[in-house]
Amino acid sequence: MTVQMPHGATHAVLNQVPPYEDVNLFEANAALRDAVGFNQPTLATEGLSALGKVAGSAGMQRHARLANLHPPVLHAHDRFGHRIDEVEFHPSYHVLLGAALHQGLHGSPWAAGGPSHVERAAGFMLFTELEPSVLCPVSMTYAVAPALRANAALQQAFSGLLASPRYDARFQLATTKTAMTMGMGMTEKQGGSDVRANTTQAWRDGEDAWGERYRLVGHKWFMSAPMSDAFLVVAQTAAGPTCFFLPRWLPDGTLNAVRIQRLKDKLGNKANASSEVEFVDAFAWRVGEEGRGLPQILAMGALTRLDCALGTAGLMRGAVSLALHHATHRMAFGKRLVDHALMRNVLADLALESEASTALALRLARAVDGSEDASVPAAGREHEALMRRLLTPAAKYWVCKRGSHLAQEAMECLGGNGYVEEHGEGVMARIYREMPLNSIWEGAGNIMALDLLRALRSGPIAEALAHETRGAKGAHPMLDRATQRLLARVQNGVDEIDARRFARDLALVTQGALLAQTAPAPVFSAFCESRLDGAPDAFGQLGASTDFDAILRRAAAH
Ligand SMILES: Cc1cc2nc3c(=O)[nH]c(=O)nc-3n(C[C@H](O)[C@H](O)[C@H](O)COP(=O)(O)OP(=O)(O)OC[C@H]3O[C@@H](n4cnc5c(N)ncnc54)[C@H](O)[C@@H]3O)c2cc1C
Repeated sequence: MTVQMPHGATHAVLNQVPPYEDVNLFEANAALRDAVGFNQPTLATEGLSALGKVAGSAGMQRHARLANLHPPVLHAHDRFGHRIDEVEFHPSYHVLLGAALHQGLHGSPWAAGGPSHVERAAGFMLFTELEPSVLCPVSMTYAVAPALRANAALQQAFSGLLASPRYDARFQLATTKTAMTMGMGMTEKQGGSDVRANTTQAWRDGEDAWGERYRLVGHKWFMSAPMSDAFLVVAQTAAGPTCFFLPRWLPDGTLNAVRIQRLKDKLGNKANASSEVEFVDAFAWRVGEEGRGLPQILAMGALTRLDCALGTAGLMRGAVSLALHHATHRMAFGKRLVDHALMRNVLADLALESEASTALALRLARAVDGSEDASVPAAGREHEALMRRLLTPAAKYWVCKRGSHLAQEAMECLGGNGYVEEHGEGVMARIYREMPLNSIWEGAGNIMALDLLRALRSGPIAEALAHETRGAKGAHPMLDRATQRLLARVQNGVDEIDARRFARDLALVTQGALLAQTAPAPVFSAFCESRLDGAPDAFGQLGASTDFDAILRRAAAH
């Protein structure tokens, strides 16, 4: 091929792919739109469409790049030597966090008239496609807000600020701001999964307008988003692990004694700060009873675990969109990558995984709505509570486990360009580095699988699962058989050694049952045939009878 080149040029730049930007991420995502419609048919989706447009815009992508390229910096002291423990972020971080709060992705569903958990979940997914790490304080605020109900004074003082959409980055007493965010501090050096092993000590110090006040001495080995206005932390009292509200600023306007030791040097999640802290006689106010901290933590953890599944589903969708976009524009061996049979197989398989993860994560969000809503009849509420208990560890386990596999394969679709960071322009590389985090924090894989075994003892699970899957009965013989096998295992009991296998199979059956009701027939049947009869391994092994055209058409970003 002869190509005209400017004088002195060594070559023409050919066959490179245009940037993937200015896409309405909601309108382009048929799987998400159908999952929203299935879980909340009455929801008006204009707000999600508006968010999809903003999140997919070139301008916001630029903020995402800059916030990751210029990670936060800790200033332990000012130039005169005073301790200030302040973390400075790039302005783009504040733009992104402001946009997330404006959209109500933090504490808003808990406020009267706020969005449903399903709407918030869909928004959280869309925002994750734009930038996941600023969502760390957003997710923690969402999880912590209902926990404050255990201290009426704190609830009264802060619930409005925790739901407010008017982000306020100023580092000062929360009650003087237009909105606040909160973080969580559980993990210590000697153990994160085993919170009971916490050594941070709390001593009662008196009582005031915020309730019973304590002094805390100890540390946290991981405490993310240290510029949050307050934290829910666990410390030991004489009665055992107890939850406390720990503000950065005290009511008298002085800084609380929370010493930020250093920021973690992380693989990904670069825009977010994760710190190591020490409490030097820091003031904190008790939330809930002494010694009852663990059940409270578990209730909060359930909500952040929902966000891990949502966040991973959002990252998956982002990776699949980039892979499809690349394959549509890139030529190899005389035709577009997307027209090569084996590439079609890989892309279609990735699209199935992304859609199944979206369906499961949104179903879990509906369980939060259904179990919280007093207007739902008692039987329905009980069913939703059981599904919430069951699907939280199953979805967190399986969706997050599949995330890293999917990111690796999606990256490979871009060839060498997928592996390149290019000053933050390599979005696929950013997704790849982010993916493992949702599997680790808020309870790693084994902890989720073990929690699922505990969930099996929380009520009539076999009946609940039979009820949950009844809408898909007869839709595909493989799904019917997998459902029967699953129900038999629930009835016979599951051993610890089998907990991961069980978590996977529960997630797969639930995904299959959801896709039977939300996805076109080619997506549903390809999902069943590739995943329900033997464990899924490498992507791109769908059978020859698969309707690749239909699956790729549905997944296509534009
Ligand atoms: C970037 C980042 C930010 C974080 N931010 C926060 C934060 O803001 N607040 C906070 O409190 N924590 C935070 N964490 C900590 C995180 O929640 C913990 O790292 C996680 O829960 C695991 O705890 P651990 O690191 O102590 O590992 P461990 O508890 O030592 O676990 C190590 C491994 O052992 C497995 N394991 C543990 N117990 C068992 C068992 N009984 N049977 C089988 N396997 C088991 C686990 O699944 C895991 O794979 C953050 C972590 C990261 C990476």
